[in-house]
Amino acid sequence: MNVFETIATRGHEQVVFFNHADTGLKAIVAIHSTLLGPALGGLRMWPYASEDDALNDVLRLSRGMTYKAAVAGLNLGGGKAVLIGDPKKDKSEALFRALGRFIGSLGGRYITAEDVGTTVEDMEYIFQETDRVVGVHPVHGGSGDPSPFTAFGTVQGIKACLNKLYGAPNVSGISFAVQGAGSVGGNVIKMLAKEGAKIFTCDINEDRVAQAVEDYGAEAVPLEEIYDVDAKVFVPCALGAVINADTVPRLRCEIVAGSSNNQLESEQWGTALEDRGILYAPDYVINAGGLINVAIELQGYNRERAYQAVSSIYAIMENLFRIAERDQIPTWQAGNRMAEERIRAINTIRMPYTKRFKDRLSGRTPKTSHH
Ligand code: NAD
Repeated sequence: MNVFETIATRGHEQVVFFNHADTGLKAIVAIHSTLLGPALGGLRMWPYASEDDALNDVLRLSRGMTYKAAVAGLNLGGGKAVLIGDPKKDKSEALFRALGRFIGSLGGRYITAEDVGTTVEDMEYIFQETDRVVGVHPVHGGSGDPSPFTAFGTVQGIKACLNKLYGAPNVSGISFAVQGAGSVGGNVIKMLAKEGAKIFTCDINEDRVAQAVEDYGAEAVPLEEIYDVDAKVFVPCALGAVINADTVPRLRCEIVAGSSNNQLESEQWGTALEDRGILYAPDYVINAGGLINVAIELQGYNRERAYQAVSSIYAIMENLFRIAERDQIPTWQAGNRMAEERIRAINTIRMPYTKRFKDRLSGRTPKTSHH
């Protein structure tokens, strides 16, 4: 891979390779953008088959974080870190502390968090070396389990979709097909059922389905039939790539809105949903509750404020619908445009003032060019 060409095409600011012989640490931090603020994004630990795979993953994921934070209205940029290794075998205190020191050396440009293959305990080790980490333990001012916030945000996004189609955000009497009754899905089912929704659900974990049936009167559906359920809203909360050539023609819903990451196998399926008259809530917009929640840690964590901040996903979705209508584009594309417009607008205002402010702070007078 030609690294400079690749990062220039995708717009990354900085890609850092860290190596620490004593602990066997090999990590890549990708900072896609700091135009809105420090780049925040999780640390993924994975036994990548090759260095190119690791680099591709971190470049792709860090860019996604720029869009996610920008749409969520956060003053944060996009970044991500990957640690090459097997999370079951290769973890140690020394490994994460070495990585913590490396992250500290970036001077606050990158803030890390939990992701696939890493845990709160790993974040605690990083926290011993740098404060540029969120998602630490609640006793250290951390925000705890993000999934109730992700679920709450997802429900806000669902309500915005209902309001758009039916003129009211009420879930009462509306039917939902929830794929996956795990940490997020389980909470989504609970919230919707409490407000009088009819729930269909499936999960490879039968206990989770049984619980939804018992506690919330949900109807169990075989795994593969979840796409064919005659429900108004399909809510993917399990897997990625579930909107694809096989499922788009089968869906009988009027709305797709769930928490799963990367729901569209490729963007064309977002357009295909639109062509079928199905309203799609872009995944990274409505599942941003976890990110919004964890970002509150940077200001001193407060649970109530976190819920309030996450509830803004409703208004964000309304703005997104406005952009889709204004530009006559599908909703998946409107999400991206919304992010790009915010970055451009804020950046245009900020740049000259920030520089002048910094000059004043340091007591320097800007030099004129002819000196
Ligand atoms: P989870 O592991 O707690 O739940 C996922 C559930 O899906 C599990 O119960 C699992 O058994 C089930 N499942 C797996 N394969 C399935 C299949 N083929 N059919 C039906 N069910 C299946 O994970 P989670 O934290 O609830 O996350 C769910 C989704 O939301 C993931 O895609 C995740 O990336 C995304 N997400 C989560 C958060 C968060 O805060 N947890 C934030 C943003 C995005």
